[in-house]
Amino acid sequence: MGLTVSGIQNTIAARIDLSGVGVHSGKPVSISLLPADADTGIVFQRSDVAPEHQKDIPAIVSSVGATDLCTVLGEPAGVHVMTVEHLMAALIALHVDNVIVEVDSAEVPVMDGSSEVFVDAIDQVGLVGQHRPRRYLRVLKEVRFDMGPCWGMFTPNETTRFEVEIDFDEPIIGRQKFASNLTPDVFRKELSRARTFGFMKDVERYWAAGFALGSSLDNSVVICNDNNIINPEGLRYTDEFVRHKTLDAVGDLALAGAQILGCFRSYRGGHKLNALALQALLSDTSNYEWSDVSPVSRSSAGRVELMAVKSPSFAPEKS
Ligand SMILES: [Zn+2]
Repeated sequence: MGLTVSGIQNTIAARIDLSGVGVHSGKPVSISLLPADADTGIVFQRSDVAPEHQKDIPAIVSSVGATDLCTVLGEPAGVHVMTVEHLMAALIALHVDNVIVEVDSAEVPVMDGSSEVFVDAIDQVGLVGQHRPRRYLRVLKEVRFDMGPCWGMFTPNETTRFEVEIDFDEPIIGRQKFASNLTPDVFRKELSRARTFGFMKDVERYWAAGFALGSSLDNSVVICNDNNIINPEGLRYTDEFVRHKTLDAVGDLALAGAQILGCFRSYRGGHKLNALALQALLSDTSNYEWSDVSPVSRSSAGRVELMAVKSPSFAPEKS
C-alpha cells in the first residue's frame, strides 16, 4: 500500500467569489474566500456587521454555537455564521489550511446542496504551499460517544478514514454504508456531489417555523410519501444519502482545526452527534496528539519513512 501524507500548509492561490442563497433565510448571500497567512486556519468574518461588532470566527469546535439543523459557528444570538459544513468539508478535503471567508449574511450560501461548487472553485484557482508544516490530530485511542440509538467512534488509524452508516425507516433510503479513506480525489469523485436531503413533511414543518426558506429542489433531494424522490433528475449516486452524511461528517470534524489521522465511524449520525463526538475526543488530551511528522510514507514492507515532497498529494487508496 502506497501512502503519502502531504506535509506543508496551503492556502488558495487567488481570491474566490461566489454567490447564492441562504438555505435558512432564503436570501441572497455572497462569500469571498481570501488567501491567508500560514497558521491562520479557516476564519469566518461577517462583512455585513458594523465594524464595532466585527470579530473573527475561527472554524474550530469551541466556536460551535448550535447544531440543530446545520452547524453554527459563533454566538447564535450574536455574530454567527450558519451552514458552514459543506464549505468546511471542501476546504479540509482539498488541504486548504488557511483562508479567510467573508460572508455578507449569517449563512454560507447553500449552492446546490453539496460541496461541488466549492471544490470546483478551489480547483480552478489552485493551492499555494506555505513552507510551514501541516498539523495533524492523531487519534491515540478509541473514543466512543453514544446518543440514544446513534453513536460515533474514533479509532487510531494511519490515514484519515470515514465509515458512516445510516439506517432510515423509509425504504428509499434504508440502510446504507460508506467507508473509505479520505483523499482529495475520493472527496472530489465520491462525496463532493452528494446533496442535502429531506422529507417533504419536515420541509413543511421547517417553513412554518421560519427555517429552510431557501430550501428547494435546486439544493436538496426531497423525498415525498417516504418513498418518492420529487427531483426530476433523480439521484447523483445510488447511495447519495449516506455519501452526503459522510460529506457532513468530513465538514463537522474539520472543526478539529486540523486533519484527523484516525478512523471515524458513525451510526445514524448527524451534525449534533459529530460535534459531540469531536468534543469527546478533544476533552481528554490523552486521546490524541498534535503531529506535524509528515509527510509519511509506508512502504509495502510496512516500514515508515519520512519523505520530502514539494507539493501536497495523497496517493489514491488502492486497497
Ligand atoms: Zn449537509
